[in-house]
Amino acid sequence: MIGQRDTVSGAHFAFTDRWGGVSAVPYEELNLGGAVGDDPGAVRTNRELAAKSLGIDPARVVWMNQVHGADVAVVDGPWGSAGRIPAVDAVVTARRGLALAVLTADCVPVLLADPVAGVAAAAHAGRPGMVKGVVPAAVRAMESLGADPARIVARTGPAVCGRCYEVPDAMRAEVAAAEPAAHAETSWGTPAVDVCAGVHAQLERLGVRDRQQSPVCTRESDDHFSYRRDRTTGRLAGYVWLD
Ligand SMILES: [Zn+2]
Repeated sequence: MIGQRDTVSGAHFAFTDRWGGVSAVPYEELNLGGAVGDDPGAVRTNRELAAKSLGIDPARVVWMNQVHGADVAVVDGPWGSAGRIPAVDAVVTARRGLALAVLTADCVPVLLADPVAGVAAAAHAGRPGMVKGVVPAAVRAMESLGADPARIVARTGPAVCGRCYEVPDAMRAEVAAAEPAAHAETSWGTPAVDVCAGVHAQLERLGVRDRQQSPVCTRESDDHFSYRRDRTTGRLAGYVWLD
């Protein structure tokens, strides 16, 4: 259910694994993604189960319509029940008790919080989003609400690692031109990108010092969903909120 959890000065960070939900194959068990072909009722139940396990209200979780971009939405409550969920890859809030969630299956889930300012952010950083700078955009939005990068706590969750994320040579060159730290090689010796290394390099340059990276590679872990491994599969979630 909750694979990793961490609390720093009242800022909570949590990442799910794939177990403990009600979804059937190939979304078994705890698929939290609403746009992957799973039964919507199962997804709703899974989101309730995950929230209960975290001790948060499932109605106070802000989800995104993620599109591999770099747009950020500042939110102070859940989207209206009738409203359309905006296409953004980061959400930022200054509302304590409001949980922000990011869905992934190989992309890097990025959770950020400045516990002093009471500002939190969740971002979805796949290869395109990392190159476009969704994480720096989220940090800038946090700063506009009073956050200080020196106080920001950053946690990145389970994601495909640089030794597994094979890409064509030209794509690696393009990614590395934007973010040199993402240049990687697979364990079998072919061009690769390390999106998480790129995200951490961006955060470091912004002055975010308290950073931790999940040791889990989704593609290598049977306890996590991996798009590159399974194609049709569920989505993991990362949650951040402030007391
Ligand atoms: Zn790996």
